This record gives sequence, structure tokens and C-alpha cells, in this order.
Amino acid sequence: HPPSQIAAEVPIEEVAPLYDGRRAALSLNIIVVGAGLGGLAATHSLAQAGHRVTLLESAARLGDVGAGIQVSPNQSRLLIRWGLGPALAATAVQPEAIVFRRYNTGERVGYSHWGSDMIPEHGAPYYHIHRADYHTLLHRLALAAPGVHVRLGATVRDVQPDPAVRGGPSVTLASGEVIYADVVIAADGVKSVIQKIVTGRDDNPTPTGDAAYRATIPTDLMIRDPELRPFIETPEMTGWMAPGRHLMAYCIRAKKEYNMVLLHPDDGSVESWTQEGSGDKMRAEFADFEPRVQKLLSFVKSTLKWRLMDRAPLPTWVHPEGRVALLGDACHPMLPYRAQGAAMAIEDAAVLGDLFSRVSSLKQVPALLQAYQDLRLPRATATQQSSRLNQKIFHLDDGPEQRARDAAMRAAMAAELE
Ligand code: FAD
Repeated sequence: HPPSQIAAEVPIEEVAPLYDGRRAALSLNIIVVGAGLGGLAATHSLAQAGHRVTLLESAARLGDVGAGIQVSPNQSRLLIRWGLGPALAATAVQPEAIVFRRYNTGERVGYSHWGSDMIPEHGAPYYHIHRADYHTLLHRLALAAPGVHVRLGATVRDVQPDPAVRGGPSVTLASGEVIYADVVIAADGVKSVIQKIVTGRDDNPTPTGDAAYRATIPTDLMIRDPELRPFIETPEMTGWMAPGRHLMAYCIRAKKEYNMVLLHPDDGSVESWTQEGSGDKMRAEFADFEPRVQKLLSFVKSTLKWRLMDRAPLPTWVHPEGRVALLGDACHPMLPYRAQGAAMAIEDAAVLGDLFSRVSSLKQVPALLQAYQDLRLPRATATQQSSRLNQKIFHLDDGPEQRARDAAMRAAMAAELE
């Protein structure tokens, strides 16, 4: 999934220094583990706070797989503050509305206008972007900061959190090399090995019972069809809700590609970003959806498939020694049913950077990491839980509860359209 040329080349805006120009009086050596969206954002925010950051990534090259991702205003606001405003506007699509439909008839049961309303209501635009483009923008941003050093092919096997040893925590790579730092931030994703070390719990993420197929199709196939053209001309985010399943779809890449995420009961896929799914199996599982969906799915040449995992809220994100902390999916993986996983990771990074712009002594680090956890854990936990709740709401069986849901959505839509 190469990034678009625009994402690779669009200038990043010069913005006013972050944190009101405040930089840490003591510049720390910080290791960030994992160059996903969360780790890149943390690298940027900590470097802007005045620290030297070593970013360790197990993959041999930087990049992201998959298809589209939603960038809600709580994350776009931060990205704009970081200088990515023009780049986002050039690479992403702003949906005009969110629309919910009955799966089998296509009837519109819910509608909320987004588009230009987002800025007065939420202070920043809502965007849909290709993951490869989003990742490219963030890694260009992170690598542009002074004091950032990236090591690829660097798999962290272990972390020694005890600062009594050589005065700081250290990580051990698969090669056996040991790297010391003042602070370690683990953004190593849902399968985090460091999570177990920080919390002392030997548990794994929880299967949610659902899996996702993801696919993109070129919109020139849709433009030729009068039934599909409106999805491009007035780009909406469309959610088709069905018993046990739903489909979310939207335009990305200057409306040149249409992204579809098909959520369905997990039938034994693996938790992976790269597993191929069967297009024919996907079409069979969604065969009872309305005719426009059948047309859309007929254009799909290949799919990727994810098992969706989350976990019960962790009791702590910070190791008791106070120098190693978790960030992003490593501590709060969630169902994508509110499109908030990356958003929470970006918020984590912003809060961490702000707090660490205030460091003047190593002794403050445990208290700052504790403050980071206190500020972030309740919000991330609430978001994990509301994402789980949407699984129930979107996937209701046809019957009285579904009719009550749809009636409530129709009433809200009527009030909005009045
Ligand atoms: P990851 O992206 O998983 O990054 C972890 C990184 O750490 C990887 O690069 C990995 O290679 C590296 N790594 C792992 N272990 C090691 C190690 N031992 N040593 C070194 N490196 C290591 N969120 C949204 O905000 N909006 C959406 O619309 C949205 N849609 C989604 C749709 C689906 C189907 C899914 C599954 C998720 C969606 N999310 C969405 C959630 C979002 O993708 C994740 O929350 C986000 O990518 C997490 O970022 P992260 O940096 O914490 O972890």
C-alpha cells in the first residue's frame, strides 16, 4: 500500500511552537517502541517538548497497510496544530454527512449533517484518509523534528524497567543489544509485549467476536452507475446496519477511491493487518444487503481481513518504577465502532508531550507519567466501552429492539432536517 504522491510530497506547514513555546529544562533520552500512528505521534510531541527520541520499530520499513481510516475532529485538531492542516486538506476527503441505512432495503433511518458544521461544532474538520497517507504524513512530521533517531528492524524483546540499574530503564532487542534511556514509551500495539511487563498481568487481548473485511474500489467504476454516483458526488459516510453485521463506507484520496469496512462474526481469522480475506466468502456473507451494496462488492478484487480485539481496561499504564509507560493500542485497544482507536493514541501523545515539556529533573518523571495516566485512562476507558456498546446497537437482530432503535434515529433525523 504505497502512500499517494501528494502525501509523500505535500509541504508540512510551519506552525507556532507547541506548548506555548515551552521546552523542557532537562532534555531526556526517550525510547519510543513502535512506529504506528501512536508511536510516531509520541515521537513528534516529545521531540517538540525538547527531548531526544529513539524510535524503535520491528518492521524493516516505515509504512501502514490497510485501507481507509476516519480522522475525527478530536484528532484532526491536534494534527492541524502540528502543521498537517494543508496536508490533510490535500490528501483526505471531508464527508458531507453520516447516514445510517437498513441493510436490506437501503432505507435511510439516520442522518446527521457534517461537512462545514464540523468546524463550528467541534473546532476542526472530519476527514477520511488512506492509512498509508496518514502514516506517511505522521512519519514525515516525526522525522523532521531535531533529536529524533529511527531504528528499523529493531524488535524489542524485553524491557528492564528498574532505574536503579545504570540509572534508567533499558530495552533489549531481539539481537541481544541493550539500549538505555531515561524513559520508555511503549506504543507496540494491541499485541504489546511491554504491556505484560508494565502491568505484571500475563493476559492477552480479548477477541470481540467480530472480524473486519476491508477493501477499496476505484470510484470511476461507481461514477458510471446512476445508483452509485451519489455516494461520490455528495460524499457521505454510509453505515448499513444488519443483524450481527454492518458495513461502513466512504470516499478517500480526493474521491478517487471508495473504502469499505465490512464487520461480521469472526469465523477464526487471525489478529493481523495483512491477512488476505476471500472476496467470494465476503460477498456470500453480505448477500442479503441491498442491491447497491451487491454492486459495490462485485467491484472488489481483493480484501484484507482482521480479527477485532480489545481488552478490559487495564489497572495501570505505568510500571511501578515510574519510567516505563504504555500508549495507544498497547493499553487501550478498542473496537473500531466509534472510529476512535487512533484518535485516542494521538490524544495520548499530545498529553504526554505537553506534560514532558515541563520536566526539569529526572525525579519528576514518575509523577508526570502518573499525571499522563490520570488524564488519559478514564477517557480512553469510556471510549473502549462505548465502542463495545455500538457493537450491540449496530448489530441488533430484526425485531422490537431494532425497530425502537430505528424509530429513535428517524426522530433525530427529522429534527435535524427540520
Ligand atoms: P499500531 O498501529 O498497531 O502500531 C504498533 C507498532 O509497533 C507497529 O508498527 C509494530 O510493527 C510495532 N511493534 C510491535 N511490537 C514491537 C516490538 N516488540 N518491537 C518494536 N516494534 C514493535 N482508529 C481511528 O481513529 N479511526 C478509524 O476509523 C479506525 N478504524 C479502524 C478500523 C479497523 C478495522 C481497525 C482494526 C482499527 C481501526 N482504528 C481506527 C484503530 C486504529 O487503527 C488503531 O487504534 C491504531 O492504529 C493504533 O495505533 P498504535 O500506534 O497504538 O498501534
